[in-house]
Amino acid sequence: MNDPQVTFLEDALERSSGPTRLAALNDLAHALAVVEAQRTLLLTDEASALVEACGDAAELLRATLSRGVALFTLGRLQEAEEALRRAAQWAGDQGQDASTARSLRYLGDTLMRMGQVDEAVGLLSQALALFSALQDPLGEADCFNALGALADMEGQYPEAAAYHRQALQRRRVAGRSDQVARSLGNLGHVWSAMGEPTRALQHHQQALSLFEGLDEPHNVARALINVALAYERLEQVGLALTLYEQAIPVLLEHGDEVNAALAQANLSALHVKMGQADLALPLAHTALEVFERQGVLPLTSVALLNVGTAQAALGDLGMARTVLQEALERSTLYQLPEVIIQAHEVLSGVLSDLGDPQGALEHLRHCLDLERSFTRQQAVQRTQAVLTELEAQTAWREAEVAQQRANELQRLNTVLEAAHEQQVELMARLDEQAHQDTLTGLYNRRYFDQQFPQALEQAQEQLKPLTVALLDIDHFKRINDTFSHLTGDLVLRRVASLLQEHCAPTDILTRYGGEEFVVLMPETDLETATRRCTALLQAVATHHWPELSPGERVTLSAGLADLGAVHLPGGLIGQADQQLYRAKQQGRNQVQP
Ligand code: GH3
Ligand code: MG
Ligand code: MG
Repeated sequence: MNDPQVTFLEDALERSSGPTRLAALNDLAHALAVVEAQRTLLLTDEASALVEACGDAAELLRATLSRGVALFTLGRLQEAEEALRRAAQWAGDQGQDASTARSLRYLGDTLMRMGQVDEAVGLLSQALALFSALQDPLGEADCFNALGALADMEGQYPEAAAYHRQALQRRRVAGRSDQVARSLGNLGHVWSAMGEPTRALQHHQQALSLFEGLDEPHNVARALINVALAYERLEQVGLALTLYEQAIPVLLEHGDEVNAALAQANLSALHVKMGQADLALPLAHTALEVFERQGVLPLTSVALLNVGTAQAALGDLGMARTVLQEALERSTLYQLPEVIIQAHEVLSGVLSDLGDPQGALEHLRHCLDLERSFTRQQAVQRTQAVLTELEAQTAWREAEVAQQRANELQRLNTVLEAAHEQQVELMARLDEQAHQDTLTGLYNRRYFDQQFPQALEQAQEQLKPLTVALLDIDHFKRINDTFSHLTGDLVLRRVASLLQEHCAPTDILTRYGGEEFVVLMPETDLETATRRCTALLQAVATHHWPELSPGERVTLSAGLADLGAVHLPGGLIGQADQQLYRAKQQGRNQVQP
């Protein structure tokens, strides 16, 4: 077992001590209950002993439940029933839905195998509802699986096939190939019961190869029995015999007495067919003993049939008659038509040999009547099963198409969303670009024109100062003419970044046009603004220009206007422009407030 979860739990158990050991034992037992039933029993034995010391009800429930599941897995049905009934009761009392569902499902499965059909159906339906509420599809699949087995036992094969398909579908979606294999095996069994051995063989072989791929020898052996049974029905007796012989020791090695007994019972029938009744009888006796001891009552009728048939073949007619009558009684009780038919047939021969032609004839008539109706019934069920399978496939395919459509829509939606996001981003960038001067990276005239009226209104409303400064590069034309337009551009960019660097964070600096800049200075009075502009002019005037000729400087002139100019013609901008003009007039490189 190299399941990483199990390895983790094993490590945890090894490291645990004192109070943590009980929980660690139960964690591991829970994980192993089905896959390593015998080891689980050892773990739960230790857990139960520890619980006695501490009396922890929740841990006692977990130990009992795992023990019940392990016993069920080992086919020790009566012990399993006892443990699972207690577990179901305690889980219900403690309001633990998941444990209740698990207990009920295994209890239902156990009772079903013991032939207590009505209670089993009730418990499994309860478990199914709990698993649905818990959104546990694998739990649901287990219940469908058991209900399928029940319908199978009751001879309701089309229903059984439908249940098993429900289980198969959930297990496939969950990607549990071990459980998929089990469902395939169960479907195979149903097809076999409906008299479709070829179809049954296909399912069983698929299950077999899944188990082989999973390297699960116990399940491989169980699948081998099914494949053998299908071969037997296809009259491939030699092949079937080899497979049974291969499976039996493996099953016994895994403590699976019941399935080993089933293989022995089938093998016994094959030996009789091949005229080896002496080999058949001990096998049939072993199977009978196991089925009786383990309480697998329906199967005791099969074993009795095998014992009786072998005895008849060995000439022990008196014993054979008694045993076969018992087989007939039990198979009638558990409604196993094939066993009933065969029991009548063999009994007819035995009575004939015992000199009771009347009795022989009666059994033969029963046999033929039953066989006819059984065959007819099989045919009807086959048709019905094929129809429901077709319906299920159609529904499945339709669901798949719908799913694909939903996926495609989802994909388109994602594409549209991405496109929308791109568009929003693009718009934001366009918006930004609309406000940005490409040469200098500063805000542009358009932005100033938007911001200025708002700033003006806000300042007037809140009775806060506001100053506008208009800055113009001195003799810029000369720079262009002397050096080049490209150098002019460079100077413009550098001046812009110098201004940006020395502006206050609240100032809004824009390139107003050509070589003119505006600084909008909210909450700034004329005096402060003058100081700040002087600093700006200073920063530019003292800048060193390696691109120009040595000693060449670049200067600015600035004109300012504050709210006082608001009623003058031309407003603040007009006033600032006039002041700029004055600064130029008075020798440039200066601020005119
Ligand atoms: P003043 O001190 O009186 O302002 O003199 P000035 O030469 O700076 O003034 P004028 O208005 O005569 O010239 C401005 C020059 O700025 C003219 C124009 O070619 C130049 N100019 C405007 N925009 C750009 C530009 O984007 N790049 C370059 N290189 N030059 C520009
Ligand atoms: Mg100029
Ligand atoms: Mg100018």
